[in-house]
Amino acid sequence: MPRPIVAQIHPAAVSHNLSIVKQRASRSRAWAVVKANAYGHGIDRVFPALANADGIALLDLDEAVRVRELGWTKPILLLEGVFKPGDVQIAQQFDLSMAVHCREQLDLLRLSPSHERVNVHLKMNSGMNRLGFRPDAYRAAWEQARSAGIADITLMSHFANADDGDVAWQMDRFDAVTQGIPGQRSLANSAAVLWHPQAHRDWVRPGVVLYGGSPTGQSRHIDDVGLRASMTLRSEVIGVQSLSAEETVGYGRAFAANREMRIGVVACGYADGYPRHASTGTPIAIDGVMTQVVGRVSMDMLTVDLTPCPHAQIGSKVELWGDQVKIDDVAHASGTIGYELMCALAKRVPVEIA
Ligand SMILES: *Cc1c(COP(=O)(O)O)cnc(C)c1O
Repeated sequence: MPRPIVAQIHPAAVSHNLSIVKQRASRSRAWAVVKANAYGHGIDRVFPALANADGIALLDLDEAVRVRELGWTKPILLLEGVFKPGDVQIAQQFDLSMAVHCREQLDLLRLSPSHERVNVHLKMNSGMNRLGFRPDAYRAAWEQARSAGIADITLMSHFANADDGDVAWQMDRFDAVTQGIPGQRSLANSAAVLWHPQAHRDWVRPGVVLYGGSPTGQSRHIDDVGLRASMTLRSEVIGVQSLSAEETVGYGRAFAANREMRIGVVACGYADGYPRHASTGTPIAIDGVMTQVVGRVSMDMLTVDLTPCPHAQIGSKVELWGDQVKIDDVAHASGTIGYELMCALAKRVPVEIA
């Protein structure tokens, strides 16, 4: 008998979330961002849900080739561009668009035969200070790309704090430098899709919202958006303990009962991708009843308070995250964001498409 843990991927939720993005940014085209193997969901599994996207954006050449093999004929964008000379040829062979964020990449591209036909997303570092040409070097980079014969150049930048602040400080820099330069614009991540319509421009680049996650890492910030969770992590109760007052649970004796209580042992631990830092109080559902994790999460198991669900027993169904238990709430109680939990789903967890 396998352990009862299973992850369910819901392609219908992804296509629903994509349609919400398209409504919100109805004048823009949308790249569906599927980097990190579709935020842990599996590109193959979510691929059928992306039919209405205008393009697919990711990082790895392998994943891009896979998307072509799956039959995608619309644009594919390499968000970090290419890393070595051979990559350019593969990118051309599979008709991939690519970010160009530094002089080295521009040189790589210029040295490659028939680079003129590559669609380039020339990236400006407008304040994120991760990748991109600085504003004062941007126009020169654009002119170099143009004089190398590259005809199709999209002007791109990325926001540092679209989830909890203003984007004007970056947009103003971007607009000042790109004024008069022809070409499409692409700025908006999920947070900007939801909260900064002035940043939508020609192409938006939503990632986490496609999977029902909150760009802020807090579920309450997307309560009114109508997104659906695209990943459910389920398991079962595999043990029940009755504690008397002052007995403790698990490693480090991190939780002590202050009265008699029933504890459920769930087949899910940090080796499954559940966060070890989930503190006592992290939400979890047993047979549809909300309760809390208590004590320390161990490698293969975690423990829960069965007080609100007195009928729970071995075999009771557990939702670790999904529709009822928001992944961002689990993440928040663990000092992280839903993005990380999606991406960290462990290989050993069997996955079903539901
Ligand atoms: C990851 C990424 C996105 C999507 O970010 P979300 O916050 O998940 O929407 C957009 N643009 C770039 C360049 C990225 O790397």
